[in-house]
Amino acid sequence: MESPYKTFLDERGPLKRALSPASSRRGKGYSEFVNFSSNDALGLSMHPHLMDKAVQWMKKYGMSFSSSRLVTGDVEDIHVLEARLAAFKKSDAALILNSGFQANVSLIPALMDKNALVFSDRLNHASLQLGFQAAQIKQIRYRHLDLDHLASKLEEYKNDKRPKFIVTESVFSMDGDQVDLSRLVALKKEFNAFLYLDEAHSFGVMGKGGAGLSIAYAKEIDLVLSTFGKAAGGFGAFVCCSSVLKEYLINTCAGFIYATALPPQVFGVIEGALDILPNMDEQRLHVQSLARYFREELKAKGFDVRASTTHIVPVVLGDVEKTMQVSEALKESGVWVNAIRPPTVPKESSRLRFSIMASHDKKDIDHILNVLEKFA
Ligand SMILES: *Cc1c(COP(=O)(O)O)cnc(C)c1O
Repeated sequence: MESPYKTFLDERGPLKRALSPASSRRGKGYSEFVNFSSNDALGLSMHPHLMDKAVQWMKKYGMSFSSSRLVTGDVEDIHVLEARLAAFKKSDAALILNSGFQANVSLIPALMDKNALVFSDRLNHASLQLGFQAAQIKQIRYRHLDLDHLASKLEEYKNDKRPKFIVTESVFSMDGDQVDLSRLVALKKEFNAFLYLDEAHSFGVMGKGGAGLSIAYAKEIDLVLSTFGKAAGGFGAFVCCSSVLKEYLINTCAGFIYATALPPQVFGVIEGALDILPNMDEQRLHVQSLARYFREELKAKGFDVRASTTHIVPVVLGDVEKTMQVSEALKESGVWVNAIRPPTVPKESSRLRFSIMASHDKKDIDHILNVLEKFA
């Protein structure tokens, strides 16, 4: 598959994605790289339908809704879109929020206070951590994806009457590993806890029709956060929950109440992605099988790919210098992959984080494996 979205980068880093054709925008001081760091797994950000929808909404509503949705920034089309999102996720209701970051930072204080017992995966995203800080929550942290550890913590607080919350990502952004949702849902039920699931990295790529991993347990998870900025090719986020909880959030979630609604174009992009995502099984399968091939070959060469099972494949090299050196070697060979260092990841676990996309092919992977071989 010829890459429709190779990236133009200069030595400082990502600059601008090529429009078309790629070579027409190659200028002095720029080189072309195959991009292995973008979250645009399905290439939707360049899809003409999303662009058409953006223009359509923009022409209808202008460049801005110019206020919070609670003031005058609300239109029937947004409600229709939210109803479609809820149906796609088999949820009672959906509420669009401005970004995943803003959602986590403001949903958590809306739902939890310092009285709550909050059981949280140790590697939860920075935006979740900020949400806990804003709510003055002292987390009860369990080892990453270790549900035995979570169960023992829940057991410890079994007779505590305070409200219990379990907060986790479905697919982890830096490790590409995934939570055992079936067991998590069983635990949530057993201990009568509220389950808050962040699907930023699984929405679009995983689950039936790309609806995310939660789709298999749609009615059993209390709140699912998905984002549009990654595999959905756009921007923004939405929560799925009961209608009652949605009403509550409309009245309490500061990020919803005190922020200007997303621009009309962005709603258009969301609508466009929703039209297309369910029909991208072919691309999803391609991404998954390429990632599987990459992981297996890496393991055979002795690389540490952690417990990745998804399109996100970390190559953990540990040492910061070495990680930078390998990233540099790949760059020289035409591959852009960012080195991820502490504090984004724990000490001694510096890594290259590969994000497999539909435009990649086996040739790209074999090329990377070739370069990496020297560093095994
Ligand atoms: C990317 C990400 C976010 C932030 O979402 P944005 O829409 O980019 O603000 C939140 N949570 C997780 C787990 C993420 O990976």
